[in-house]
Amino acid sequence: MSDAIGETWAGTHRFHARDLVRARSVAEVQEAVRSRTGPVRALGTRHSFNDVADTAGTLVSVVDVPPEPRLSATGDVVAVGAGIRYGELAIWLEQHGRALHNMGSLPHISVAGAVATGTHGSGDRLRLLADAVRALEFVDAAGELQRVERDDPRFGGFVVGLGAYGIVTRVELAVEPSYRMRQRLHVGLDWDVLADRFDDVTAAGTSVSLFTHWGAPTVEHVLVKQRVDGSFDASVLDAVREAEAGERFDQVSWTPQDGSVGPWLERLPHFRLEETPSFGDEIQSEYFVPRAHAPAAIAAVRELAADIDPHLIITEIRTIAADDTWLGPASGRDTVAIHFTWMRHDDAVRALLPGIEAALHPFDVRPHWGKWNAFDDAGIAAAYPRLADARALYRDLDPEGVFSNAYLERLGVR
Ligand SMILES: Cc1cc2nc3c(=O)[nH]c(=O)nc-3n(C[C@H](O)[C@H](O)[C@H](O)COP(=O)(O)OP(=O)(O)OC[C@H]3O[C@@H](n4cnc5c(N)ncnc54)[C@H](O)[C@@H]3O)c2cc1C
Repeated sequence: MSDAIGETWAGTHRFHARDLVRARSVAEVQEAVRSRTGPVRALGTRHSFNDVADTAGTLVSVVDVPPEPRLSATGDVVAVGAGIRYGELAIWLEQHGRALHNMGSLPHISVAGAVATGTHGSGDRLRLLADAVRALEFVDAAGELQRVERDDPRFGGFVVGLGAYGIVTRVELAVEPSYRMRQRLHVGLDWDVLADRFDDVTAAGTSVSLFTHWGAPTVEHVLVKQRVDGSFDASVLDAVREAEAGERFDQVSWTPQDGSVGPWLERLPHFRLEETPSFGDEIQSEYFVPRAHAPAAIAAVRELAADIDPHLIITEIRTIAADDTWLGPASGRDTVAIHFTWMRHDDAVRALLPGIEAALHPFDVRPHWGKWNAFDDAGIAAAYPRLADARALYRDLDPEGVFSNAYLERLGVR
């Protein structure tokens, strides 16, 4: 264990790695891989909650490599260093009149790390953040720089790649013209309305998030983000009142929820880049089921409300559009994501997760790769039909398991 390397952002995992190389150039990444004396693993901004990024050997971070963003001649692709944080990229894009299709709740997370674990936002028509990736460059197990493009039939295994095949140094992301959005917060959606009209609720905006405790008499908050160039039928929320100024989520760290129009990067993420995000002293877990099962899956978790709520800071329910990534949470199916931000009741949370997973098991549940879960290799194999393809790809690219770690082996990815 190395004290110098420390912990994940939330302090939920202490790294066991022997050392950490903060590369300042791609050449330094290559050198770190070539001169290794044991396994190597990429580290992003440490926003995962488990040991997904850990290694018994050397961690290599590309966060300090100058990102040098560059737009393509047509302006529809940006090439950028993979260690850049989404919020910094968003500012640069906005200055150049461009925008991302989607963002996670937090703009502080590195692009490479978010792509690697299948990070998502919310939106019936919005796919994972990784869906924007058109090409990526990575340092392989021999220390060579490789490039892979979207038309490669193996591409679905490179995005959401869990750091299993190399260290991604540069990504090319699809971008679009800048757009403007508004965000509104509603209070107290009837659980029955959610069950009966789930599709109408999540179609009320570009991105809809439901925040609640499970034993609450109503779904406590509905956060609706709408592109002003889109058209939405939000009439299902007509009877759900809007939050008064004093009821909105903390206006220091959250983006504005007052219905005012602003640039995409100040509405699409929940949190502001310049502020300390979220709660910090927290654990996160998240589970994904096909959206057709949303009402039944939500009802199954509600049965556990009395066990869950004493340890819960808040739940967030979101939607994700299906994609063709091999290990993505929405691989092959439109998805509903059921997220838990937990208090640091570590033992109680660990004890609760198997019961939540059992309740969601009938709905083909998948776990978030970067958050606490109780899955084992059999559970992962059942959840991801393309796991065998991903395993074969990572074995071909890294036969000696240079980039493997205890997490990947425990879950049967390596
Ligand atoms: C407050 C908070 C809010 C969050 N909100 C969301 C959300 O809205 N939606 C969501 O889906 N998730 C969310 N997450 C989870 C988070 O997005 C993921 O855990 C993400 O992977 C973290 O990225 P990171 O850069 O911190 O990566 P790390 O945690 O440092 O690493 C994660 C994985 O990425 C790999 N990796 C990192 N850099 C590279 C690289 N250069 N090349 C290859 N592999 C690499 C690592 O090896 C590891 O396997 C949130 C987390 C926090 C703390």
